[in-house]
Amino acid sequence: MRILTALQLALALSCLIQLTGCAVNPVTGNRNFTLMSEADEMREGRQAAIEISKAYNTYGGLPALQNYVNEIGQKLARKSHRPQLDYHFTVVDSPEVNAFALPGGHIYLTRGILAYLNSEAELAAVLGHEIGHVTARHSVQQYSAATAANVAAAVGGLVAGIFVPQLGGQLAQGVQSLLGITGSALLSGYGRSHELEADRLGAEYLARSGYDPQAMIKVISVLKNQELFDIEAAKQEGREPRRYHGIFATHPDNDTRLQEVVGEANRYVQPGKIDDRRAEFLHQTEGMIFGDAVSQGVVRGNTFQHKQMGFRLSFPSGWRIRNKPDEVVAVSPDGEAMVVLGPLGDQRGAPADLAQERFRPESPAEILSMTHNGLPVAVVTSIAQGERPFKAAVIYHEDKAYLVAGRGDSPAAFARYRDAISSTIESFRALTDAEKKSAKALEILTIKATNGLSYAGLAKESPLGINAESYLRLLNGQYPEGEPAAGQIIKIVK
Ligand SMILES: [Zn+2]
Repeated sequence: MRILTALQLALALSCLIQLTGCAVNPVTGNRNFTLMSEADEMREGRQAAIEISKAYNTYGGLPALQNYVNEIGQKLARKSHRPQLDYHFTVVDSPEVNAFALPGGHIYLTRGILAYLNSEAELAAVLGHEIGHVTARHSVQQYSAATAANVAAAVGGLVAGIFVPQLGGQLAQGVQSLLGITGSALLSGYGRSHELEADRLGAEYLARSGYDPQAMIKVISVLKNQELFDIEAAKQEGREPRRYHGIFATHPDNDTRLQEVVGEANRYVQPGKIDDRRAEFLHQTEGMIFGDAVSQGVVRGNTFQHKQMGFRLSFPSGWRIRNKPDEVVAVSPDGEAMVVLGPLGDQRGAPADLAQERFRPESPAEILSMTHNGLPVAVVTSIAQGERPFKAAVIYHEDKAYLVAGRGDSPAAFARYRDAISSTIESFRALTDAEKKSAKALEILTIKATNGLSYAGLAKESPLGINAESYLRLLNGQYPEGEPAAGQIIKIVK
């Protein structure tokens, strides 16, 4: 679903290239060439917001949290260089870690990024940075640089990336390259100079609103740690690391220029005691969903289950599992084998017919029809020379078809993992009524740390899987080595 909307988004953004000559930049006072008029900027922002609303749902789990984020955002916006704009601040229902701004003042945060923040000041820093992009009109400048030809080329590449197990990673890359052209401005930042300017402006708005501008550096450090951890996890999972918004990617938190631009905001600091309002922030985010929503299917330990689709499947234990919008991918600990689970849409004929259509094996005899756990299944095994061997199954469940496919990077790797791949295929089964009832998303809760409590100890009880200890530290801003102090309020996931 997100793939089509990303495509629509890119096409919508390509329409933003409407140059209206020179205009005055609200932040610098300089005249920028290639800036669209403010009316055009507003209109394009509204159109892009419609596209965003197709790609992301508003997070509805905690209505008070939406109000809270909006209030903080409006407070900062009133102290910005463009206080007259009609700002909108929305928490979207995504486990991704991201924040982005559209032209004209539509600003979005994922619930994924909120999970890793630890105070209202850090939330304000993220919002202030995004407001900075709006007030300095970075998106307008960036969109002017994109061309329709680039978008067309990326779209061509994307359409080629249809879902077949051998191409699992290419699809993601197709989306990424698409975003890399027009959406990069939106989802991954604007390049170093604009990011630094947004940090500078954000720090100024923080100070003017009664927060410590150093929260900007703190939040960059928190999210940088998240990113460093994800690079490690991505290596283990054999995937590309997530590309976050540029504040985290383009400069380290100890960067001299960053220290300088944030330091400039000190002159705006309000007299009196500065409170980062940590307790209030933790209160507002208590009960927020962490990770996958139930509607996206949930991973618990090595099992994936999808309540609406009504099935579960167990991946080999110790494999890294990633629940993506269009598929679930599990990678062996050494990265040499993977299993992909994905929907194939409606049933057409028998499972063997779909398997034939999809894999076109040399002879129909290579397709074996059978029943697993009461479900009709067709299994294809390919160990042809010169190709990466794979074993795949088309499984019919209720009125839909699913694909479970495992492959090794080499014949030796495939031989080593063949049993694990077979067991995964055979574990696909319908959920029981009791399992459907008990399916629930993970939530952020807070506890008061007792003496001697450690993240390793908490990880043992955690549903977060093999990286639980790192996740708990990241969630509490204590990555990579911190431990809870006695009496400290910390976030856990239940
Ligand atoms: Zn930015």
